[in-house]
Amino acid sequence: MKIMKFGGTSVGRPERMHQVSQLITAGDESKIVVLSALSGTTNALVQISDALAASNRAEAKQLIDKLEAHYHAFIGDLASTEASLQAAKAIVTEHFEFLNIILRISFSEALNKDILAQGELLSTKLFSVYLSEKGVKHVLLPALEFMTIDGYDEPQIGAIRVKLSQLLSTHADDKLFITQGYICRNARGEVDNLKRGGSDYSASLIAAAINASVCEIWTDIDGMHNNDPRICKTVPVEQLSFEEAAELAYFGAKILHPASIWPAQHYKIPVKLLNTMEPAAKGTIIVEEAGSTGVKAVAAKDGIISINIRSSRMLLAYGFLRKIFEVFEKYRTSIDMVTTSEVAVSVTIDTAVNLKEIIRELEPFGTITVEENFTIVSVVGNEIAETKEFLLKLFESIKEIPVRMVSYGGSRHNVSLLVNSTDKTTTLQALNKGLFGL
Ligand code: ASP
Ligand code: MG
Repeated sequence: MKIMKFGGTSVGRPERMHQVSQLITAGDESKIVVLSALSGTTNALVQISDALAASNRAEAKQLIDKLEAHYHAFIGDLASTEASLQAAKAIVTEHFEFLNIILRISFSEALNKDILAQGELLSTKLFSVYLSEKGVKHVLLPALEFMTIDGYDEPQIGAIRVKLSQLLSTHADDKLFITQGYICRNARGEVDNLKRGGSDYSASLIAAAINASVCEIWTDIDGMHNNDPRICKTVPVEQLSFEEAAELAYFGAKILHPASIWPAQHYKIPVKLLNTMEPAAKGTIIVEEAGSTGVKAVAAKDGIISINIRSSRMLLAYGFLRKIFEVFEKYRTSIDMVTTSEVAVSVTIDTAVNLKEIIRELEPFGTITVEENFTIVSVVGNEIAETKEFLLKLFESIKEIPVRMVSYGGSRHNVSLLVNSTDKTTTLQALNKGLFGL
């Protein structure tokens, strides 16, 4: 059985749903198709939820009406028979009635999650109507019946496997299943989600749970590129190891949700990144082996905050790093880069959510300097850190750019640089030229 996940732009227009239906009906293998919400929907739902949280009901109502109008136009183009138009209308009406009811209830975090879930529920149900109209036999599998997370928001593959197998066994003769990405149930049994962009994670978890032959992630670009295509001239990377892909996804390559690597890696499921608009293109395959050595790609992650802790007492002291890291652990804030000297430590984090508290607790350890608006630029490739010429080329390419931190040696596949966000474009372009000749 294989998994095919389609992102928001792949289902965001009626004609795209038509393309998706062709892709999922090719070949004999059984499939579970995971869909995101139509592009723009989750953003709109976030806005609705934010308006409600701010008790701005009038604005929320306006946003709901606007989104509803979008869906009515969408189904008008999607359905070609009166019967399926009526079926689609009933679905849109049901979900927008729900949003309108929510308008009258007092806002809570659980309600927020209910609002955010509407996008994937709508996309899968409407796609199911479309498939039925075209006579494509399929089963709609409700993700809320098998996708679960525990009290720490961690998905439980064991439990997912049991529930999903049970569900699938009741459809032994079926070969095509459609389900929602992103949404799940939490430990309290409430509707929840796997965080923004989480449909990839859903797909990878499902692939792991059923031991799929492959997990295909279909988007609107032909695979993972060697650099940011919005900034540089780029080419797709044919093969990546799970480790390389994890570094790229974590350090900013938007094409794949970073969390979606581990289930596939742990259960050895190959992941393919493919383009709905150009299905014949090779795309990128992510497997255990890197395929080749050398530099593969550059990725950038913005919004980085650097924290420097300087203490003369650190000289020859032990336990200093532990004390510092404990503060970040306490505030569940993950550290991306670390550099140390004998008297100072610099770390970077990507969220200011608990910054004030963190600084307050670090203050007893020394002088704290916080600087914002940095970008981590990561250069990723199999064994690159062991190639002399590579480091030469790397630093030669960026010799004009002030670098705030360098992280080298943490992994054999990655060198990360911290630069001012204002230097991001120049850095990516310089590396593109120096490392890839592009
Ligand atoms: N619809 C969700 C989002 O926009 C999940 C996803 O698309 O992966 O974040
Ligand atoms: Mg996505």
